[in-house]
Amino acid sequence: MKRASVVLIGLTMLGALGAGLADTAVEQSLGVSSEVARQKLADGNKRYVVARQAHPNQTAERRAEIAAGQKPFAAILSCADSRVPPEVIFDQGLGDLFVVRLAGNILEDAALGSLEYSVEHLGVNHIMVLGHERCGAVQAAVKGGEAPGSIGSLVKAIQPAVDKVRSQPGDLVDNVVRANVAMVVQQLKSSEPLLAEFVKKGKLTVDGAVYDLDDGKVVILP
Ligand SMILES: [Zn+2]
Repeated sequence: MKRASVVLIGLTMLGALGAGLADTAVEQSLGVSSEVARQKLADGNKRYVVARQAHPNQTAERRAEIAAGQKPFAAILSCADSRVPPEVIFDQGLGDLFVVRLAGNILEDAALGSLEYSVEHLGVNHIMVLGHERCGAVQAAVKGGEAPGSIGSLVKAIQPAVDKVRSQPGDLVDNVVRANVAMVVQQLKSSEPLLAEFVKKGKLTVDGAVYDLDDGKVVILP
């Protein structure tokens, strides 16, 4: 009785300290390592490319197993493009990937907050920023001019990548897709106060990658 009370008070105190501290300590010890996460993504994409998918973790049993809590092994920031669904192209299932999708895989506040949550609260140790060929948001940014409604916010976010590679040889849209991914990777790695600290401590890796719409391959950027 007495011990239960002490534990209860202890838990209440931890709760009062803020979920972050307690959860980080717990989740960091449970999270899948960056190396394992990278390998799982690479293996899943290989299966998808050759149409030998395993369709893991898509059963009613899996649904029940994770109903009380999630422990995704990686987070992905990808484009909203209907041709690039991360769970499909990495052959993953329920509870495997923490996915944030915005046209042009841009990083704005809510996207950053979501990714921070996956690292800080869910123990994710690996983030992939995934762009893709012939991205409509990138094409709009390359085209320039006025975009209606809030589409302008996408264009604005990608514009620095356009400016950076405009004079480079090769296909401009392809170059911007890569530059935009690289820019977002850097933004994540240097994001204070949370993600940059995890990177410094060796508890978080961030890769940039591009998806090929034709053959389905995901290529990690150097
Ligand atoms: Zn796109």
